[in-house]
Amino acid sequence: ETQKETLGFQTEVKQLLHLMIHSLYSNKEIFLRELISNASDAEDKLRFAALKDDGLYEGDSDLQIRLDFDKEANTITLADNGIGMTRDDVVQNLGTIARSGTAEFLQQLSGDEKKDSKLIGQFGVGFYSAFIVADKVDVFTRLAGAPVEEGVHWQSVGDGEFTIEQANREKRGTEIVIHLKQDASEFADGFRLRNLVKKYSDHISFPVIMKSEGSEEGEESKDETVNDATALWTLPRTEIKDEEYKEFYKHIAHDFEDPLTWSHNKVEGKLDYTSLLYIPARAPFDMYNRDAPRGLKLYVQRVFIMDDAEQFLPLYLRFAKGVVDSNDLSLNVSREILQNDATVDSIRTAATKRVLDMLSKLAKKDADAYQKFWGEFGTVLKEGPAEDFSNREKIAGLLRFATTLTGDSAQNVSLDQYIERMKEGQSKIYYITADNFMAAKSSPHLEVFRKKGIEVLILSDRIDEWMMGYLNEYDSKQFQDVARGDLDLGEVETEEDKKHKEEAAEEHKGLLERIKTALSDRVQEVRVTNRLTDSPACLVTGDFDMGAQMKKIMEAAGQ
Ligand code: ADP
Ligand code: MG
Repeated sequence: ETQKETLGFQTEVKQLLHLMIHSLYSNKEIFLRELISNASDAEDKLRFAALKDDGLYEGDSDLQIRLDFDKEANTITLADNGIGMTRDDVVQNLGTIARSGTAEFLQQLSGDEKKDSKLIGQFGVGFYSAFIVADKVDVFTRLAGAPVEEGVHWQSVGDGEFTIEQANREKRGTEIVIHLKQDASEFADGFRLRNLVKKYSDHISFPVIMKSEGSEEGEESKDETVNDATALWTLPRTEIKDEEYKEFYKHIAHDFEDPLTWSHNKVEGKLDYTSLLYIPARAPFDMYNRDAPRGLKLYVQRVFIMDDAEQFLPLYLRFAKGVVDSNDLSLNVSREILQNDATVDSIRTAATKRVLDMLSKLAKKDADAYQKFWGEFGTVLKEGPAEDFSNREKIAGLLRFATTLTGDSAQNVSLDQYIERMKEGQSKIYYITADNFMAAKSSPHLEVFRKKGIEVLILSDRIDEWMMGYLNEYDSKQFQDVARGDLDLGEVETEEDKKHKEEAAEEHKGLLERIKTALSDRVQEVRVTNRLTDSPACLVTGDFDMGAQMKKIMEAAGQ
């Protein structure tokens, strides 16, 4: 039965198409990278599936991507002999957006083209980017191993609907025909396409094949491979240009912006693997969504095994992207096996250290870039001290704080900077936590610190108090909450201060008793203090009591 059906795009797809066409207008050429990236993923998936069933190759295990164009017809055709799709796959993959939270994300877009193009980039544009240059797209596809009659033809002009019908497909895999808009006809050109393939897709693992230039008018058309076609991470570092690292990042991370930094390492010896790890420049919209994809792309002996292998990095480094290619793991490795495998554990320990080192290096070499990282991912990194006991000191060194010295809410002071500025005789790192920056900044607890010129870290992120519960010291200096217990200013507190406090306590003994009786069921103790210079009184928390912020979190959680 070859009935043609017309289906509507999911609302989110319609919105995305509309926004993309308008906001990526000046970035047209990226459509080719996206489509080649998908073709490469499809080849990867087939090679993996064929490990178990090499019948899927249907006698053709020469995996490649073909790129053709037709100037007259104003079309570009991209064909892969990868895994292909069933009818249901097509309806799902080329008609909906599966990522949860997409609708909310799209609502945030403003209509301001410049701003939105950045946001869309963070979302990942993917297949739908074809409509930046196309006024019609045909997709012909057949799942590897399926009968010829199970081929599918999808077509859309990008206006909200698509058609789908059965089509006989001798060849497995996917062929995409882009009918170029009039103002995008520049892309139906061999020179232009070759350049784009080199620029964006040089180091995907599969050859991109085009007809050689000379043969277009000539009698015989010869095929040639236009890209380098060796997986980037397998090359020696010295042979890879920054631009190539960046483009490869965009391919694997489905990102649109350059990464902030990367780290490429080949490990030989007891373990034998290569890792290529990246720090993105921008947080994905669903970073706090527990089900959002995270993890690295796993290859075993250069064969793609899976996306989003979560076992290679701890949760607090979930923003890192990249590839691990192991020669020790088995090609049959599954997610279950990854969960308790000694090799995986060792790679994870090393990869964790690499990411932390990469961040330290970035902080040293480019403070602005590090500040950008901190703005995007700081609150995620703050989960680190609790999750990763063994790396606490390293993580603490990467934290950035607002302080009383800078006086503004930007978190840009490191603990090393704080320590450098410590007063003579000061032995502790002082901090204050509060619901928000202004509340913390105007707290009476800071009065004595101002008077003495001692800097105090201002912590007002939701996670801060919880995090401080896992940080006891840094560089052998203890952390001290200024609103907690008996304030110890170390040697900064002069003998005179102490004497004054003792005398005052003696003198006002009666008053203290009376206040204590009056507040008896609400406070544990009433003391004379040197903490204050202007305010008459303040509340402090016991050394072992839950802090105010933590109490609120627990209350909100119904505890
Ligand atoms: P992403 O690549 O980030 O998953 P895309 O929008 O680029 O998102 O593609 C959506 C989905 O469509 C892919 O995940 C894949 O399942 C399917 N797809 C796209 N192109 C191909 C192709 N050439 N072969 C097989 N499947 C494809
Ligand atoms: Mg894609």
